[in-house]
Amino acid sequence: MKVKVLADILGANDRVAGENRRLFRDNGVFVINLMSAPGAGKTSLIEKTIQALGDTCRVGVIEGDIATAADAERIGRTGVPVVQINTGGACHLDGNMVRAALGEMDLSALDLLIVENVGNLVCPAEFNVGEDKKVMLLSVAEGDDKPLKYPLMFRESSALVINKTDLVEHTDFDMEKARRDSLSINPSLSIYPVSCRTGDGLGGWFGWLKEGVAGAS
Ligand code: MG
Ligand code: ZN
Repeated sequence: MKVKVLADILGANDRVAGENRRLFRDNGVFVINLMSAPGAGKTSLIEKTIQALGDTCRVGVIEGDIATAADAERIGRTGVPVVQINTGGACHLDGNMVRAALGEMDLSALDLLIVENVGNLVCPAEFNVGEDKKVMLLSVAEGDDKPLKYPLMFRESSALVINKTDLVEHTDFDMEKARRDSLSINPSLSIYPVSCRTGDGLGGWFGWLKEGVAGAS
């Protein structure tokens, strides 16, 4: 019975996500669904991305958080359009929440829409919001055991950004193990070790995004 209920919820979500996807396609917008644990640096990665690509690419952001508009205020300071979703307790974004946020966003004025999911390593991967690609962000401070412990996030993602490489020498994080384990779950994953603090390695990530934007326009 429980299985049937879950299937109904996911089925209903996929219908709404499909409608979102049609809207994104009609407007030629490349959409990523950015997922990570709390504190991995999603908002910092978005800030760096806007600073680097904002001149050549029209970026918009949807911020998902359980509470507060803190992240939308941070992104708003960069000058790009941003909408905050407060889930009021729900631990992931779904198609309906993103659909509601799209009412506040002019898709025809965007090339790239970044959806920052609620910080959580479990259910964000189960709910499509209509995105082109899911992106997983892992920070070295979380440990290199996360790919094997939370495989769905890594399986569903097209790109894996590994943040806070500037801290790696202060941790036991084994970059080669993280790579190997991630690729064992998802061999087609594009992996970008970066430091949002120093800017190290971000060029590869920007290149991946630009390719997606070019493909969607
Ligand atoms: Mg954030
Ligand atoms: Zn959830």
